[in-house]
Amino acid sequence: MNASTIVIVGAGQAGALAAAELRQQGYAGRVVLIGEEAHAPYERPPLSKDVLLQPQTARCAIHGETFYTERNIALRLGAAVTALDAQARTVTLDSGESIAFDSLLLATGARVRRLPVLDALGGLGESVHTLRTLDDAQRLVPVLQPGKRVLLVGAGVIGLELASSAVELGAQVAVIEQAPRAMARCAPPVLTEALCDLHRARGVALHLSSPLAAAARENGEIVLTLEDGTRVAGDAVIYGIGVVPETALAEAAGLRVDNGIVIDAQCHTSCAHIYAAGDAASQWDEASGRHQRRETWENANRQAQTAARAMLGLAPEAEQAHEADWFWTDQCGLNIQFAGDMAAPEWLARGSLAAPPCVLFGLDGEGALVGAITVNQGRDMRSAKALIVKRARIARETLADPAQNLRNLAREFA
Ligand SMILES: Cc1cc2nc3c(=O)[nH]c(=O)nc-3n(C[C@H](O)[C@H](O)[C@H](O)COP(=O)(O)OP(=O)(O)OC[C@H]3O[C@@H](n4cnc5c(N)ncnc54)[C@H](O)[C@@H]3O)c2cc1C
Repeated sequence: MNASTIVIVGAGQAGALAAAELRQQGYAGRVVLIGEEAHAPYERPPLSKDVLLQPQTARCAIHGETFYTERNIALRLGAAVTALDAQARTVTLDSGESIAFDSLLLATGARVRRLPVLDALGGLGESVHTLRTLDDAQRLVPVLQPGKRVLLVGAGVIGLELASSAVELGAQVAVIEQAPRAMARCAPPVLTEALCDLHRARGVALHLSSPLAAAARENGEIVLTLEDGTRVAGDAVIYGIGVVPETALAEAAGLRVDNGIVIDAQCHTSCAHIYAAGDAASQWDEASGRHQRRETWENANRQAQTAARAMLGLAPEAEQAHEADWFWTDQCGLNIQFAGDMAAPEWLARGSLAAPPCVLFGLDGEGALVGAITVNQGRDMRSAKALIVKRARIARETLADPAQNLRNLAREFA
């Protein structure tokens, strides 16, 4: 094994974590981590938050400067992999260089979904933006200034985080969303309605159920026309309408791809010596009985570790295999954490969303705990996740009572 080479394509969250895990597990062969961005691997969650709010001091590097050299990880930045030959076990870089591998991890992430109606504005540039990379975030810093009128298209998590940061920076913000509610894919109405009220109270103009019909530049400003004829003018547009998994290499190499590179529970793709992890991967999910792509920081970390261990013939860590899905958002001064099933039919509150801290519990049709949301109450999340894994059935009065310690309840079900 010591003479072997593991190549990782994509030096983002999953790629960097996988490289670290390989060394952590004692792999002594060659590790090559290839990323097309110029920056050393960095975390994306701060891009919509601290990188905008404190551009001078925000830090988002995943590891320290010397981490990769100290661990003999060959970090190849500014290098795009343009071809993968799964049979010959080689990747080719845009420079023409070919690198042979014994095992390969595809950690290529996702790219922003483009919105054709905005093409009328002439593509991305000074006044039309998306947010996926550190370079994107740095381009937004001069846009989000006091008095600037910012049009945000898409009220998903990133759209609302941007709205929150933009308001904090003194910009005037309008959010345009075609769906009837914000964050519809990832949070229940009880939470998103309260959150929208908060955004409105901070001065955000929220246009829900408002598909975009047209975009134009008029007299030095941008005018977006909604399907009902409403015109909203601004100085800049930032749009976030979701992402598309980066699967081109996998597809061209003949790997199975279905809204993401299809992987099993150990992150194997359809090709024996090739693995995938993170936003690009669509993993078999026992609970739902289907493949799922998860676009979260924790999923990237978790799959990266699983893939690295599988490459070395090790099973995933026991607790990782059974954890409830988890992600978070920071907006309007709230830290909101989510675990489990956000489509649960019933939500029960412990405390009030109008006066956090507060926890929401999601129950299935039989009263079992399947989801939880903590609002400025992250310390309860670990216990909530443990109870979700057990599908605990707890009396509604107990769940709703802030005097009942959640940790003790979790211990009862352990
Ligand atoms: C603005 C923003 C805020 C977020 N906030 C949160 C949050 O609050 N909570 C949360 O849970 N999640 C959040 N996320 C999501 C989280 O950051 C992602 O799920 C995570 O980064 C996915 O990791 P990844 O390694 O799969 O992909 P990425 O981090 O995107 O890394 C993939 C890398 O691969 C590179 N690459 C792709 N193709 C090639 C190629 N052919 N050759 C070389 N390199 C290639 C890309 O350039 C990229 O650098 C946020 C994301 C964004 C964009």
